[in-house]
Amino acid sequence: MKVEIDKYAGFCSGVIKAIGMAEKYSADGFEISCLGEIVHNSQEEKRLNSLGMKTIGYNDFEDLNGKRILIRAHGEPPETYEKAKELGIEIIDATCPIVLNLQRKIKQKYIENPECQIVIYGKKGHAEVNGLVGQTNGKAIVISNMAEANLLDLTKQTFVFSQTTSNNNEYEKIGEFLKNKSIEIFGNDDNIVIYNTICPSVKNRIPKLKEFCKDFDVIIFVSDEKSSNGKMLFSVCKENNVNSFFISSPDELENSWFSDAATVGVSGGTSTPLWLMEEVRNKILKLLTK
Ligand code: SF4
Repeated sequence: MKVEIDKYAGFCSGVIKAIGMAEKYSADGFEISCLGEIVHNSQEEKRLNSLGMKTIGYNDFEDLNGKRILIRAHGEPPETYEKAKELGIEIIDATCPIVLNLQRKIKQKYIENPECQIVIYGKKGHAEVNGLVGQTNGKAIVISNMAEANLLDLTKQTFVFSQTTSNNNEYEKIGEFLKNKSIEIFGNDDNIVIYNTICPSVKNRIPKLKEFCKDFDVIIFVSDEKSSNGKMLFSVCKENNVNSFFISSPDELENSWFSDAATVGVSGGTSTPLWLMEEVRNKILKLLTK
C-alpha cells in the first residue's frame, strides 16, 4: 500500500509568516492575542493556543488594556487599526503582503473614483473580504455568485476584484458575463475593469492538484470547514477523483474508503499544517495494516 503526501500541499507563505510571528511572540513570553482564528484550521489553532497565544473576538478587544494583538494573514479594515490606537493596543501585523497589496489597490481605486462601483468577488463576512470592503468606507459590493453579479448596475464605472482565495474558474466566468452583458446593453465593455487578484499560491495549486488526484485510487483532503481555499481545492479533487474524501482530523477516517485502494494520496489547503497531514498518513497506514 502506498500512502503519499502531496508535496505541494501545506501552508502558503502568508500563513507561514503569521504562524511564525505567533510562535515567536509566544516563545518570548509576550502575552499575545490573535484577533480571530489565526488560520482556518482548528487543529493548528489549538497547537498555537497551547504555546500561549490567545484567540480573541472583536467583542474582547476593549478588555486588552494596552496589550498586544496579532493581525492575522487575512488582514483587517482600517477601523481595527484606529480602534487599537485609541485603546493603546500594540499591533503585531501579520497581514499577508499579497493581501496588503490588494487592500492598497482597492483603496487607491476608491480614492481616485469615489463615485465608482467597487465589486469584490468573495465570501460575505470573511475576514479578508471585510478588510477589503473597509478600504472603501464600506461601499464596496460583495458578490458570491453569478446571480448577484447580474444585479450590478453596469451604467457605473465598475472595478472588480477577487478575494485572494476564490475559485479562479468561477471568477473568470463572472468577469466574462459582466463584460458580455455590458456589450449587449451599451455596445462596449469600457465601464468594466476586472482585476485578477487571486493569489498565485492558490491558483497554481490547481493544475498540480489535478495531476496528484489522478495518480491515486483514493484522495484524502485535510482541511477545515471554515477554510475557503480548502473547500475550493477539495472541489478540484472531487472533479478529478470521485474517491476523494474531506476530513478535518484523522479520527474522521473510515475503513470502508480504502477497501479497494492500493494507493492513497493525502493533500490539504493552504492552511493545513504538514504535521496534521502526517498524522493522517500514519493513521491510514495503521488502519490498513490491521
Ligand atoms: S493564500 Fe495567498 S494571499 Fe492568502 S495568505 Fe496565503 S499567500 Fe497570502
